[in-house]
Amino acid sequence: MVTIERKARKDRQEHPTRVGEPERLALQAIQQSIVSCERCPRLREYCAEIARTKRRAYRNEVYWGKPVPGFGDPRARMLLVALAPAAHGANRTGRVFTGDGPHGSGDFLMAALHRAGFANIPTAERTDDGLELTDAFIAAAVRCAPPDNKPTPVEIANCLPHLDAEIAALPRVRVVVALGKIGFDAYLQLLKRRGVNVRPKPAFGHGVAHELPNGQTLIGCYHPSRQNTNTGKLSACMMDDVFQRVARTLRDTDLR
Ligand code: SF4
Repeated sequence: MVTIERKARKDRQEHPTRVGEPERLALQAIQQSIVSCERCPRLREYCAEIARTKRRAYRNEVYWGKPVPGFGDPRARMLLVALAPAAHGANRTGRVFTGDGPHGSGDFLMAALHRAGFANIPTAERTDDGLELTDAFIAAAVRCAPPDNKPTPVEIANCLPHLDAEIAALPRVRVVVALGKIGFDAYLQLLKRRGVNVRPKPAFGHGVAHELPNGQTLIGCYHPSRQNTNTGKLSACMMDDVFQRVARTLRDTDLR
């Protein structure tokens, strides 16, 4: 997957000032509107309460406690759609899949992205850890940590416009990896709102890819939660298989 980094580097060398700049500025404006969103009172109260009470291990830290925007490369061709921030992970640090501890979902995911050439380091601890994604952008169906990781259908519907706005600012996305069934269904719901009806409705399955009418490929992937990775439901090899599939799809897209 070295080719992904090489291609991005070549773009930057050839067009040092303009590559990704309009997308980056558009994403910045969207991030502001996400961070200040108050549409779901239950989730806003929960996040604020977690930020106030904190986990013992982080008692000296200032929690982010606000909605969490997406993170990654403005010129990404791969979009990952997850469920929601973790209460003491992204809700604490302010960056998706960041800070949920050693062997947490963030490190598991980032190690796989690093092996595949999409991330420059294999961990995600803090917002100042130097992590950069190349050709990949990570977003979530819901931007506020929900109690028991279970947002309501209304909360998912409330939050979809944020994902919609980010996707509109990421015009190069060709492959969408849904991390878990909620992310998978949320993406299909979003397409429906955009007038893209996928019939018959694709079924979520790990490693199962679907060609969409809008030319994108949607790939299911088990969510890298501790519950899945500690029980072996999701292994590092299974995650690698998904990103190899992504790389093949992007290569094929380039050849068309
Ligand atoms: S979950 Fe989304 S829509 Fe609801 S308050 Fe948070 S950012 Fe706003």
